[in-house]
Amino acid sequence: MGRFILKCLKCGKEYGQQYRLTCENDDSLLRAIYFEEKLELRNQPGIGKFHSWLPIEKELDTEAGPITYKSEAFARELGLSNLYIGFSGYWPERGAFIKTCSFKELEAHPIMQFLLENGAKAIVLASAGNTGRASAHVSALTGTDVYIVVPDSGIEKLWLPEEPTESIHLISMGPGNDYTDAINLAGRIAKLPGMVPEGGARNVARRDGMGTVMLDAAVTIGRMPDHYFQAVGSGTGGISAWEASLRLRADGRFGSKLPKLQLAQNLPFVPMYNAWKAGRREIIPEIDMKDAKKQVEETYASVLTNRTPPYGVTGGLYDALVDTNGIMYAITREEALEAKALFESLEGIDILPPSAVATAALLKAVEAGNVGKDDIILLNLAGGGYKRLKKDIKLHQIQPVATARNPDIPLEELNI
Ligand SMILES: *Cc1c(COP(=O)(O)O)cnc(C)c1O
Ligand SMILES: [Zn+2]
Repeated sequence: MGRFILKCLKCGKEYGQQYRLTCENDDSLLRAIYFEEKLELRNQPGIGKFHSWLPIEKELDTEAGPITYKSEAFARELGLSNLYIGFSGYWPERGAFIKTCSFKELEAHPIMQFLLENGAKAIVLASAGNTGRASAHVSALTGTDVYIVVPDSGIEKLWLPEEPTESIHLISMGPGNDYTDAINLAGRIAKLPGMVPEGGARNVARRDGMGTVMLDAAVTIGRMPDHYFQAVGSGTGGISAWEASLRLRADGRFGSKLPKLQLAQNLPFVPMYNAWKAGRREIIPEIDMKDAKKQVEETYASVLTNRTPPYGVTGGLYDALVDTNGIMYAITREEALEAKALFESLEGIDILPPSAVATAALLKAVEAGNVGKDDIILLNLAGGGYKRLKKDIKLHQIQPVATARNPDIPLEELNI
């Protein structure tokens, strides 16, 4: 019984319906194989619609979900006749109700449910800001304990659309620590008794939650898009879009050609762009992210600065790019800011820095002829509507319960 199994993409070993991040035999990603082979939309307001392909028993009834609409003004400016925007954020006029303003909430709801159904009491995760905010919000809604480790640069992103609850345990890291330091500290805290690591890209609930952006687009458009644009830091969203399109292809009603992944990173920190350009499955730190910490500090879209992305692992971003004949872009701060201003003035909603990077990549793709003017394009704006939200709702800052000097700090000192 159950709704799915987990299957290793390398050795093929199958595991039952349980929370599991790794294979016993190798380091490949596991994938959820759902017994429902055709997408059957549920009568739910948000992400719960896509229950067929979420690894949980109970249908999610949150109003948070992806939306897809056909762009007019911005599309005309670019000379595109079939530009669709996937928007994850707050934009009530278009039916978008993600009050933490990014697609990280699309993963937070199913992850929390997945873990609850597996008996977990407390979840540990690292965040550059947006994931932490999304999971803190879901913790406030459900009462599940979360331990969130955030670098200095992310603390200001830890606000909530409601009063913070006792179930949220925010650990900040002192100056000089970046997102990857937060990942390392979270990994140590997750080994304490009673704690469960959220697992990042290894968690199928995370990937399949993010994949609903592609599902929503396919359902709205009536078929899969030809191209999928997104800004990536870990690349999990790109992997998720690819996996969602594999399921849509198997469904049979949404076309047979996989959307071409067109993904962007933000200069100067562009390790996956560099590795992909060089035709390599491996990221070589000395070549692809020399002076990484300095580069990270200089990067405008800070949520895109993961030093250990699931790129080369089996089932990771490299495989997704190969399978879809993908393209990667490196976008400057200036290009991102220009694209942001253009988009916001024409479409009438504010977007977060990574979405500006994705938008700039689309502008580049049009210029380079990497999309045809009548091709069906999905631009995944994974975060936006923050300014719009502030007009409607008073936001509350989450206070850290502890601060860590470095990722190797003795855990007793944190007193969590
Ligand atoms: C996290 C995030 C991204 C990058 O996501 P990946 O995990 O690299 O796919 C892009 N945009 C926004 C708004 C994000 O929060
Ligand atoms: Zn295996």
